[in-house]
Amino acid sequence: MAKPKTTPMMAQYNEIKAHYPDAFLFYRLGDFYELFNDDAVVGSQLLELTLTQRNKNSANPIPMAGVPHHAAQNYIDILVDKGYKVAVVEQVENPAEAEGMVKREVVQLVTPGTRMKTSADAAKENNYLVGLAVAPLDCYGLAYTDLSTGEIKATSLHGLNSVLNEISRLETKEVVTSDELPNDLQASLTNLGILVSIAEKQSESHAEITYLSQQIHDEAPKSAVDTLLNYLFDTQKRSLDHLQQATAYEVAQYLKMDRHSRANLELTVNLRTQQRSGTLLWLLDETKTAMGGRMLKQWLEQPLLDADILNQRYDKIGELVKEFFGRSALQESLQSVYDLERLAGRIAYGTANGRDLLQLRRSLQQVPEILSILDDLDPAIFGDLRTNLDPVSDIETLIGEAITDEPPISVTDGGVIRTGYDEQLDQYRDIMTNGKTWLAELEAHEREVTGINSLKIGFNKVFGYYIEVTKANIPKLDADRYTRKQTLVNAERFITPELKEREQMILEAESKSSELEYQLFATVRQTIKENIQRIQTLAAHLAQLDVLQALATVSERYHFVRPTLTDKAVIDIQDGRHPVVEKVLGHQEYVANNVVMQPEDTILLITGPNMSGKSTYMRQLALIVVMAQIGSFVPATAATLPIFDQIFTRIGAADDLISGNSTFMVEMAEANTALQNATKHSLILFDELGRGTATYDGMALAQAIIEYVHEHTHAKTLFSTHYHELTALADELPELQNVHVGANEQNGELIFSHKVLPGPADQSYGINVAKLAGLPETLIERATHILNNLEAQDVSLKTAPMTETILADQPKPLPSDEETKEEVVKPIAHKAPAEDVKPEDDGQLDL
Ligand code: ADP
Repeated sequence: MAKPKTTPMMAQYNEIKAHYPDAFLFYRLGDFYELFNDDAVVGSQLLELTLTQRNKNSANPIPMAGVPHHAAQNYIDILVDKGYKVAVVEQVENPAEAEGMVKREVVQLVTPGTRMKTSADAAKENNYLVGLAVAPLDCYGLAYTDLSTGEIKATSLHGLNSVLNEISRLETKEVVTSDELPNDLQASLTNLGILVSIAEKQSESHAEITYLSQQIHDEAPKSAVDTLLNYLFDTQKRSLDHLQQATAYEVAQYLKMDRHSRANLELTVNLRTQQRSGTLLWLLDETKTAMGGRMLKQWLEQPLLDADILNQRYDKIGELVKEFFGRSALQESLQSVYDLERLAGRIAYGTANGRDLLQLRRSLQQVPEILSILDDLDPAIFGDLRTNLDPVSDIETLIGEAITDEPPISVTDGGVIRTGYDEQLDQYRDIMTNGKTWLAELEAHEREVTGINSLKIGFNKVFGYYIEVTKANIPKLDADRYTRKQTLVNAERFITPELKEREQMILEAESKSSELEYQLFATVRQTIKENIQRIQTLAAHLAQLDVLQALATVSERYHFVRPTLTDKAVIDIQDGRHPVVEKVLGHQEYVANNVVMQPEDTILLITGPNMSGKSTYMRQLALIVVMAQIGSFVPATAATLPIFDQIFTRIGAADDLISGNSTFMVEMAEANTALQNATKHSLILFDELGRGTATYDGMALAQAIIEYVHEHTHAKTLFSTHYHELTALADELPELQNVHVGANEQNGELIFSHKVLPGPADQSYGINVAKLAGLPETLIERATHILNNLEAQDVSLKTAPMTETILADQPKPLPSDEETKEEVVKPIAHKAPAEDVKPEDDGQLDL
């Protein structure tokens, strides 16, 4: 059989596709984008399209699926959301002028990290594309950008974990690299659902890249920036003039939290719902602009270590709390400010239309008002910001003069430029309006001379302007004056020389006028583009003001207080609250608690029944620390805090499903991270560490970890536990204090006070909690019976010093999980038997 012939079109398709093997190619054919071959087979499934065939009857039909061009964006979004790339192929020459096949090219490559969502809910989120460079000795350069706002940042990182932490902080969906990534990094990225794109290594970077990366001096981050930019210039195929020079940062400049801690503390993402609701961000976000919303999120992701900057933020918030009127005026003005960062992006791309410029103008119009509000605030506090706030009023004036009040979406159909802005344009417009008046007059005149009242002047694309007369009236016409152009069923259409002449003028003016308007518009846009950096700086200032007013607003609403930062290792929080739990419960319901740790206190060992509020108490401290270190006031009546360098948490049972590790493994890995990396300036929260394994080794590990922190780390540590035996450690370890969360039993009912009190808890109330949870009455009775037996036996339990015995017990084979479940009586062993109580002896227990 003869080799099937490839049509010229498929040859063109194949050639383009060869350059984009990893993208869905949307190939423009008439009113459709077509997918072929594998793209069609897979795409039709993902997008629920009908799979058809091209050249059905040939030997080798080609699978094909298509989407209408006007709906393409939807389909592209679906694919990109799923982590795929889409290359959009358009005709790039006029078919009328083409010789042979019309030329087609990829005009844009849409990828998860470069797509710009326009929906409202995406406004307060950044979409970061990350560039990675691999350097020797387990070092990495990492750079990231948000294409819609143009910021670029770069840093050096050491070790796989810090790379993963940074990538997860950025919630990135796509990583670009021109190096070979280590296998475990590659695997982790894949597991996290992050697309890894390969960028060609460029031997020489072009001038723009050199300029954008010139502030980055270290080799690895510079290489990451280069990779990132090469990829952008290669894929975006349009002006990227809004990209800002890359700036260097170091993770050590910020309060460090690994990805588990961030997740555990629910700073920006709710663990259960994966939404914003119920997070600290959700509580604090009273921002009025999208830029402010994004900045607040960034602050929460990178709390600071610099007391001066933090104190300046406290000063500003304090002033805004005090000046209620200034604050509400500020809110009102900010409410009318559009997303200047993204507008700047659209202006740079050349996709901004008249409406975008109008939004820019409306935003700029707010600045004088904002300046005057700042004038009324304490100049010692707001003076700097006030002086640096450039209202960019020349651009506001330009847009005001040039752009109409209601420009259409299209920038090529006219109606964008204001009358009076350009003389030539005004002349064309005169001709057009006068022409129309002239036509109306001509119509009246013709009716009069011919005596035909139904005579009318009309226009169509083929014949231009014409005079239409019904068939019945034709005899009334003076045949010499009219030239017949078109015959309809009931009427005839004529032209006259004077009509043709006028038509010429009107049509010319119309086309020239829209052409001129577009040019004028493009010039205005170009002028604005040359001022993009000023607009971006203004955007950053307004975003900052917006975050500050938001923090002032919540401070007042929820009674937050300005924290005092200290150089000493002292925590003194009076009446602290967990802001999110408090918001949900209401101010009255929430029981405020102090956290007091002197320089010589390292560990607070927290006991108390389940559900009493231990983990809320621990989280509350971490959230107060994070809030203080973003510059916010904190939920307490007074708070003195050191600046922490890192926060480590092991809270809750968040299984690391992605890596497929067991809860206990994750628990130990997280404990290890904390123990290896914490300094005496760190905060560690361990919630019921060790409960993921059998009691013996769980308790043994817990104790050993406490001792380790006490001896080596000296990080401020909150450790909650249900191993009451551990409370005896206070006798041995001078830097450990016992506290407990109060609970009382009244008539068999457990009443939680949620109050944190000095000293250890006396009971664990596990059965009461089980009862609260609604377990069957008979089961509860049975458990109470067993417990009473156990306690009757274990007289020594409350008095014996446990610290030595736990470890001394180790050589014995430990009961496995299964065994402990089976042998319910054995729990006496779980309670760290003193020497005189042998688990083997408990045969007399009534089961
Ligand atoms: P534990 O860690 O001791 O099991 P949690 O900290 O999870 O307990 O708290 C259980 C519930 O108790 C929380 O969901 C909350 O509703 C309530 N709670 C905790 N602390 C307080 C508090 N200080 N004031 C009021 N209610 C609280």
